[in-house]
Amino acid sequence: MKILLVGAGLSGAVIGRHLAEAGHDCRIIDARPHIAGNCHTERDAETGVMLHVYGPHIFHTDDEGVWDYVNRFARFLPYQNRVKTTAQGRVHSLPINLLTINQFFGTTLRPDEARAFIESKADTSITDPQTFEEQALRFVGPELYEAFFKGYTEKQWGCSPTELPASILKRLPVRFNYDDNYFFHRFQGMPQDGYSAMVAAILDHSCITVELNTEYRPEMAAEADHVFWSGPLDGYFDYRLGRLGYRTLDFERFSDKGDYQGCAVMNYGDRDVPYTRITEHKHFSPWESHEGTVCYREYSRAAEPGDTPYYPIRLVEEKALLEQYIDLAHATPGVTFVGRLGTYRYLDMDVTIREALDTATRFVAADGDMSAFAVSPV
Ligand SMILES: Cc1cc2nc3c(=O)[nH]c(=O)nc-3n(C[C@H](O)[C@H](O)[C@H](O)COP(=O)(O)OP(=O)(O)OC[C@H]3O[C@@H](n4cnc5c(N)ncnc54)[C@H](O)[C@@H]3O)c2cc1C
Repeated sequence: MKILLVGAGLSGAVIGRHLAEAGHDCRIIDARPHIAGNCHTERDAETGVMLHVYGPHIFHTDDEGVWDYVNRFARFLPYQNRVKTTAQGRVHSLPINLLTINQFFGTTLRPDEARAFIESKADTSITDPQTFEEQALRFVGPELYEAFFKGYTEKQWGCSPTELPASILKRLPVRFNYDDNYFFHRFQGMPQDGYSAMVAAILDHSCITVELNTEYRPEMAAEADHVFWSGPLDGYFDYRLGRLGYRTLDFERFSDKGDYQGCAVMNYGDRDVPYTRITEHKHFSPWESHEGTVCYREYSRAAEPGDTPYYPIRLVEEKALLEQYIDLAHATPGVTFVGRLGTYRYLDMDVTIREALDTATRFVAADGDMSAFAVSPV
């Protein structure tokens, strides 16, 4: 079959590769001048540092099949995400762990003592937390909430934590040991030559053609037997029912010599610091050495038409609009909506790859008979 894949990010590349290996003819287009979508990495012209152009990307998974898959196309080197935060004039370790608690409160508590201490701080008058703020106060009490959650959340989401649902903070966000590895997953690492090199290897197949700087046009679908769409779901329908809400990010680049901040990611929890974090990219490749260094200050705001959509908002209003777009999608034969934008969900890279592999496998097994969604967006 002739397959058109819109988007050369992980979704388009992984589905395209699987279908190409099954003998289908895959045309992959992307509006951007590069492959790899939001995982795109490139060397900085001034310093030679490998940049995570759309924000920091750390690969982590418990899915052995996905880990084997990415290692087929790239050499992964060990990398663990250890984040710090500057709040109220001091630097602390994240996620909140025993070191954070002991340094923040000036204590020397052991795990059980710290658990009891944090429980004593929790606001037990809140019996049925409805908002993010109530949930955080119920879990950790006012001091940790103010320092680590309130200002950061206001900046990240552009609204008060009293307007966000409690479900955003599902579990107690505190560790009662000194483990500061951000992720729990068994497999964690960074592709030695960056994500774009990995995606280039996935796309390197005789049945795949890639066209960059190429915006989708409806007549392209007429030339294909099936379309996989990894662009925005509402974008496919020209936003005719309105726009699904996203947060976008602005990155302010600056360069320096040597080591600017001593770690890859430094969060800023205080409300009066306008950015949410600073990323220093050379720390993502600790096996390389560069004289210069490049950092991004990261600012979050509501996405406007023309902005890069980053985080789907998915509150009550957006979910109602999403339902309407899902109905439109079901009434559109020959198109399957995939990936983070096509299904309007935040997806980590490993989940994106797993879903792409499963979608392509089902497509091949069903001889191309596939509905609008292989994975439900709700
Ligand atoms: C700030 C940030 C940090 C992240 N960090 C991590 C992390 O540390 N670890 C992790 O596992 N995951 C992380 N992720 C998630 C990761 O970015 C996604 O899993 C991944 O990008 C999803 O790939 P995709 O192919 O579905 O979407 P995308 O990468 O967005 O690719 C979609 C592509 O479609 C193209 N496109 C859209 N519309 C059109 C059109 N009309 N015509 C032609 N082309 C079009 C776009 O240009 C884009 O290249 C992060 C995400 C964000 C936002």
